[in-house]
Amino acid sequence: MKNLKLTGQKPGGERTVIEVGKLRIGVDFIVIAGPCAVESEDQLVRTAVAVKEAGANMLRGGAFKPRTSPYAFQGLGLKGLKILDKARRETGLPIVTEVIDTRDVSWVGEYADILQIGARNMQNFSLLREAGKSGRPILLKRGMYSTLEEWLNCAEYILAEGNPNVILCERGIRSFETYTRNTLDLSIVPSAKTISHLPIFVDPSHGTGVLSLIEPMSLAAVAAGADGLEIEVHIDPSSAMSDKDQQLSPEAFGRLMRKVAVMRRTMAELAAEDTP
Ligand code: PEP
Ligand code: MN
Repeated sequence: MKNLKLTGQKPGGERTVIEVGKLRIGVDFIVIAGPCAVESEDQLVRTAVAVKEAGANMLRGGAFKPRTSPYAFQGLGLKGLKILDKARRETGLPIVTEVIDTRDVSWVGEYADILQIGARNMQNFSLLREAGKSGRPILLKRGMYSTLEEWLNCAEYILAEGNPNVILCERGIRSFETYTRNTLDLSIVPSAKTISHLPIFVDPSHGTGVLSLIEPMSLAAVAAGADGLEIEVHIDPSSAMSDKDQQLSPEAFGRLMRKVAVMRRTMAELAAEDTP
């Protein structure tokens, strides 16, 4: 691929490691969990405590929601960010939250440990440039119609502004299949790792939109070599104000985390077989 001056594989094969507190993204396997949207202090703090208990490393929650309909719940904005900050103080979990507007990048960055750029904004080049200037690590989701080359070029915009801390996140692409919300393209994980030194996560929640598929696709993502997962978890999924059908209960998330740990051990054993 041409012009991947900063995101392309480095000559010695050196990989990007992003430090967030004590976590080392790209070295440690990281699970980001939390609700689709911040809805209230009670909902978010209870979810945060539950995902921490189950072993999550970071907390997600949208304060600005990119919704298909302008009449759907758009997120709590600043109030949501303040609630995220409270949950961080109570649990110690770093915060991952989305920014959708170029004008908001610097002040949302004051609340976020990692800024998320969503699938619908992957090619919003002015937002990418601002994200590059923010000094915060950026979780860059794959656009639903984007090739690997287009995606990496978007990451290139961020790195070109002097911010080397980009995490790619596969979240499914549009295909003719309608049973699932999106078609989770797990082949992109080893592909991206061949072409680029950036860490890559998988979001099986938006990637499938089907509750029963989140666990098998999480395990498959580990097998494919993902550096982490981003999973939607809600303290009471049936009352969720967005993405109600794809948010795991804390109990289901706990079961998933135990199986992910087994899969990671299996992958470590397989890797050991490859070393001479
Ligand atoms: C999200 O993670 O909250 C989200 C909206 O995801 P995506 O941008 O992948 O649709
Ligand atoms: Mn969602």
